[in-house]
Amino acid sequence: MLTYEQALNQIRQSLGTWQKGVETVQLKDALGRVLAGPIKAGFDLPRFNNSAVDGYGVLVEDLNSATESAPIKLQLAGQVAAGTKDDAQGEGYKLRPGQCLRILTGAPVPESVEAVVMKEFCRLEESADEKSPESIFIDCKTRIGENIRLQGEELEAGSNVLAQGMLVSPPIIGLLATLGQAEVSVFKQPHVSVISTGDELIDPGQPITGCQIYNSNTPALLGALQALGISKTSSHHALDDRDQTRQIFQTALAQSDLIISVGGVSVGERDYVKEVFEDLGVRTVFWRVAIKPGKPVYFGLVEKDQVVQKLIFGLPGNPVSALVTFNLFVKPALKIMQGLKEKSQRITMARLARNLKKKGGRLDFVRGTLESGEDGTLVAQATSGQESHMLTGLAAADCLMLFQADLEFLPEGSLLPVQLLNWHE
Ligand code: AMP
Ligand code: MG
Repeated sequence: MLTYEQALNQIRQSLGTWQKGVETVQLKDALGRVLAGPIKAGFDLPRFNNSAVDGYGVLVEDLNSATESAPIKLQLAGQVAAGTKDDAQGEGYKLRPGQCLRILTGAPVPESVEAVVMKEFCRLEESADEKSPESIFIDCKTRIGENIRLQGEELEAGSNVLAQGMLVSPPIIGLLATLGQAEVSVFKQPHVSVISTGDELIDPGQPITGCQIYNSNTPALLGALQALGISKTSSHHALDDRDQTRQIFQTALAQSDLIISVGGVSVGERDYVKEVFEDLGVRTVFWRVAIKPGKPVYFGLVEKDQVVQKLIFGLPGNPVSALVTFNLFVKPALKIMQGLKEKSQRITMARLARNLKKKGGRLDFVRGTLESGEDGTLVAQATSGQESHMLTGLAAADCLMLFQADLEFLPEGSLLPVQLLNWHE
């Protein structure tokens, strides 16, 4: 049986020939998408020298002897506001010794201005005569360039700003807008179908009878896809009937790039999933991995001329197994399909709060919670409800504790690796 790492590597290798499509989306739809190409600055940023504060533009030498007890008096020669139509570089904005200009935050700084003194250090004296200019008393020295944001100091025109493969976040949207872009080129997202299987299942909200159970996997997996920002999804349900299963899988294969079927993948009499996929031309890459929960997990491909066309995951039906294997295998595949630069798994080390026991042979993903311990190390504790049908144990968890395959016992206090459970990334 494959190990977890081997199975993950097979998924990564299989996706080597996956061809990512590209589309253009508006900024309002870009959150969570992945940049399909590098972004360059179309102009200098800032585009022009401008003031970082509300204050007064001055010549540095004029204030050389300014102190709190002996402020310097300057003559107010004019004002520049943000958004001014001209570039404030004309004759009217030329400072002469003994003069200052009122400059507001973000307003262009005329070339003759050597520094902007914050308003807080200046005092305005209204003149009695309306015609004569106002005076400004400034009680501190300044230096060349103070409070002036220089053209191109953040980015020069033509320089690289963002790299291909970056996840579009709110500040990235802001940056694109700052650069004047209303749209951005991103990788296309896969269309994903979720197929539940089983005669015993009934949709939540319906009256339940006999030995039926509510279908929890479909809503949970659609939620997991939604949390990752995957918007193009469909869901189907197949009864435990070979012909119907085949028909539904065929429909789903025609409409999707990635299929997640749940249940029917084990060794039961009515576990048709693997057989039906193979019958429909899916090449099995792996079936069964030495992990717990999730051992019967299945992965296959539809290829054309050795290029991957579709990915097929068959997840075990037990609800915890389904969501854990989604995290372990489907999520990395979705990241690669969307062109997202794969970050190394969020693994951290934690100290075990209580002894753990299991049979050897499979890597156990124990559902747990993390807390910060007295000495600053993280302490991990298994949640109650560890069986693979007990969603309560997963719902309470914020991490998966990796209890290595060859171990059968881990004493309280020992260090073990944990994967943070973050459904959103
Ligand atoms: P299976 O892999 O089809 O044998 O299913 C394993 C267990 O998971 C059985 O107890 C099923 O009833 C249960 N199960 C399968 N699919 C679902 C589902 N969509 N929602 C809730 N439980 C399920
Ligand atoms: Mg079943």
